[in-house]
Amino acid sequence: MYKKHYNYFLFDLDRTLWDFDTNAKNNIKGLLDIYKLPLEDKDQFFKDYESINRKLWASYEKGLLQKDFLKTERFYRTLLKYGIDDLELAGKFGREYLERMPFQKVLMPHVTEVLVSLKKSGAKMALISNGFKEVQYQKLTNSGLSNFFDAVLISEEQGVNKPSPIIFKRALNAINGVKQEAIMVGDDFMNDIEGAMIFGIDQFFYNPDELPCDGGPTYNSSDLRDLLSLCALPQ
Ligand SMILES: [Mg+2]
Repeated sequence: MYKKHYNYFLFDLDRTLWDFDTNAKNNIKGLLDIYKLPLEDKDQFFKDYESINRKLWASYEKGLLQKDFLKTERFYRTLLKYGIDDLELAGKFGREYLERMPFQKVLMPHVTEVLVSLKKSGAKMALISNGFKEVQYQKLTNSGLSNFFDAVLISEEQGVNKPSPIIFKRALNAINGVKQEAIMVGDDFMNDIEGAMIFGIDQFFYNPDELPCDGGPTYNSSDLRDLLSLCALPQ
């Protein structure tokens, strides 16, 4: 069977290459140690935080609360669950959590192996991430990812977010790519996959939790190594 090969790979960062959830968990566990909080089950603390954070984010996205409030409140409410009623501590915790986040280095499974092989194959690679400039560049540098990329586009710097086709177009132009030989790799169906569909390039939906999806991405896989069969490796 004919298999299509690609020479231009566009990647998302968080939860595609950089393991956001593990890094958040490690970061919070580290902070519990720094503040010497007497919690026996740090994993449970993180689970409680995640659930509280999710609810607060949903309210934030609806415009019901401000970001600064969210940054403190998610820790205030979690600490309160453990009998610690301390707004000041929650504020400090919230600030330090954000400061320390870009220094976490855990990558998603097989990332280095895949990027090394793609690079060797001669593929050109660009990174497109919705996020804050300073944080995302630090994550890339600290985790050793920056050297793989021929271009990096961060939404804050670009003034435009995925799924807008504008940011996909800029990324492809930055690596002198052509649409027919380009593929977007990402874990977020709306921002990464639908964005790439609208722009008109193929999509690799990285779907580690095997979420059901009806939208029909070009590829749907829970294993990033499947990308290796899609690049035009030298004969
Ligand atoms: Mg992502």
